[in-house]
Amino acid sequence: MKIYAEMALTPTGWQNSLLVQVGDDGKIAQVESDVSPERAGEASRRVEILLPAPVNLHSHAFQRAMAGMSEKRGPEPLDTFWTWRQIMYRFLDILSPDDIEAITAFVQMEMLEAGYACNAEFHYVHHQPDGTPYDNLAELSERVVAAAEQSGIGLTLLPVLYQYGGCDQRPLGAGQIRFGNDYERFARLHEGASKAVARLGASRSEGDSLMGVAPHSLRAVSPEALSACVSLAGARPLHMHLAEQVKEVEEVEAAYGKRPVDWLLDHHDVKPNWCLIHCTQMTDRETDALAATGAVAGLCPITESSLGDGIFNGVRYLEKGGKLGLGSDSNIRISLSEELRTLEYSQRLRDRCRASVATADRSTGRVLYDAALTGGAQAAGRMAGAIACGHYADLLALDASSPMLDGCKGDDILDGWIFAGDDRLITDVWSAGRHLVIDGKHSRGEEIRRRYREVMRRLRQEF
Ligand code: ZN
Repeated sequence: MKIYAEMALTPTGWQNSLLVQVGDDGKIAQVESDVSPERAGEASRRVEILLPAPVNLHSHAFQRAMAGMSEKRGPEPLDTFWTWRQIMYRFLDILSPDDIEAITAFVQMEMLEAGYACNAEFHYVHHQPDGTPYDNLAELSERVVAAAEQSGIGLTLLPVLYQYGGCDQRPLGAGQIRFGNDYERFARLHEGASKAVARLGASRSEGDSLMGVAPHSLRAVSPEALSACVSLAGARPLHMHLAEQVKEVEEVEAAYGKRPVDWLLDHHDVKPNWCLIHCTQMTDRETDALAATGAVAGLCPITESSLGDGIFNGVRYLEKGGKLGLGSDSNIRISLSEELRTLEYSQRLRDRCRASVATADRSTGRVLYDAALTGGAQAAGRMAGAIACGHYADLLALDASSPMLDGCKGDDILDGWIFAGDDRLITDVWSAGRHLVIDGKHSRGEEIRRRYREVMRRLRQEF
């Protein structure tokens, strides 16, 4: 398959008249620039602007179903993260495996239509509503895999170990019992999930569907089990929530004598295969130390805004060479351009400045997009993030005839899309060469939307 683009963002910068050849393995086999109109005629798809499509590095797909439902005052005097969590727990009383599969397929379809080519799913609902494991321990992991089969998205599945209800190792609360495993049962569940991912992998090329490990957080996992997860992960992706809320920092400090990022870096050799989600509560010293590890900070700016988590120390982190990527976490909104914009605007609001992460030679949009490409691919363990030979053909095309992009060239394209436009500018998305979004719509969108609507109608009645 060949794709021709009038303009494209490549590792050596913006190029014109690009012909990209994709192999049967879904990887880019050849890239040529300044090709003649005759050569351009070889392409099966011609687009105006071609970009690498990033990974969505953090998602809890099922939470999409409760988006918009937690905007009323709760019983507590102040609506907080903890109130939102109570609503999530009530929701978990009613979700069936079929519901979870339908919701996940819908979320992955929305990710594709928003420009993401791969979903790193931080998957922590494992059991039946009363906490009893399904006959197949990895039932719900298999449903995530089944959803990826329908949506066609690249997948890095991160089964989550969740042991306790807090740092004091209190038992799980009523709303948390669908998550819970001791390490031994988790290891068996992980093995089952690995087999499901391998089956999906059999119909795709190696590396297009991958496994990782996710110890939930310092609140929910013992130090011993965290070490066991590190061994289980080996060189594979290891993801963990870290330092999201002030209350969480205080709890970790009280139990472990240190702030979460401080404690983690003191007790573990944090390597580039680690992805630490949120990190919205870091001192300057922690920020510098995390940046120096080469690990990825997994930022979810829309969710962090929605939950009132706090603002990532982004300007300093990038100045120190820190790696970051983006995820949609609670999936209250699934929009790549909006995640990027929200991250930048959070820095501006805090620092009362403009173009906070731009450099002398790269615009704000370019810096953020480059970071999301590199960090996302690294966090997912996926050979992607660049229009270059050997990388997966994870690609997206933008509509250059849109009033937001008309006449734009170079980094102005990214800035126009991210700051002035939205997802409607996306015309095409490929994941590992699978052409899944055409003219802005997912090819199986009608069926996936219909199933999601049916599930949601029933859930809203029961909720
Ligand atoms: Zn999360």
